[in-house]
Amino acid sequence: MQSLITIAIDGHSSTGKSTAAKQLAHELGYLYVDTGAMYRAVSFFALSENLINQGQLDQSVLERRLKDIAITFERNPETGNNEVCLNGKNIESEIRTLEVSNVVSIVASNSAVRAKLVEQQQKMGAAKGVVMDGRDIGTVVFPDAELKVFMTAAADVRAKRRFEELTNSGQIVDYADVLENVIERDRIDSTREDSPLIQADDALLLDTSYMDRKQQFDTLLHWANQELQ
Ligand code: C5P
Repeated sequence: MQSLITIAIDGHSSTGKSTAAKQLAHELGYLYVDTGAMYRAVSFFALSENLINQGQLDQSVLERRLKDIAITFERNPETGNNEVCLNGKNIESEIRTLEVSNVVSIVASNSAVRAKLVEQQQKMGAAKGVVMDGRDIGTVVFPDAELKVFMTAAADVRAKRRFEELTNSGQIVDYADVLENVIERDRIDSTREDSPLIQADDALLLDTSYMDRKQQFDTLLHWANQELQ
């Protein structure tokens, strides 16, 4: 019996990765790390510092300012969830906007940004007993993870889910804009030079197009238990 394993969950945008990964971590008593939140936090910094104009990121200034960016997580005692902080300030709700979603893939294509965040992610998961979700966890961050899952779903299903999430949190957005964002982010994430989003050879594929949350979680838990036996 393996005592602690590393679980890497990658995949396309809005496939239900974070929800299922969080639930799985909770069930196993593991640490959950939402690496997308870290890229979103850097994007929020870049937007706040006016480093992105008309979709163009000032790469060199961002690279110089990386030393001024500290990303941490703090536990929300009410929900039990880990929330992301930028330089000590909780920005969990600020990073979940379409404005941040529209620039995050550009920021995440920058190699210096990736190097900084990957190093931090590797430290966070060094002791194993972790469920980490993102785009490059099974390929770059933890290529030796015992369980790797690649989640996908039809684009319209994913956009519908994301649209509901955004409207439920009180944001006013157009479905067409959400769909465009989901498709465009996947395109940039899959075609970037550094650590593109691809399914690792040894990752199990989970297509959530026709699965509800419980089915997604049950599948992940089943796979994790197989690995833990
Ligand atoms: O998971 P989430 O949708 O919040 O991720 C936001 C964006 O962050 C992704 O579209 C991708 O551009 C970037 N990302 C990444 N590598 C990760 C996690 C997220 O490039 N490990």
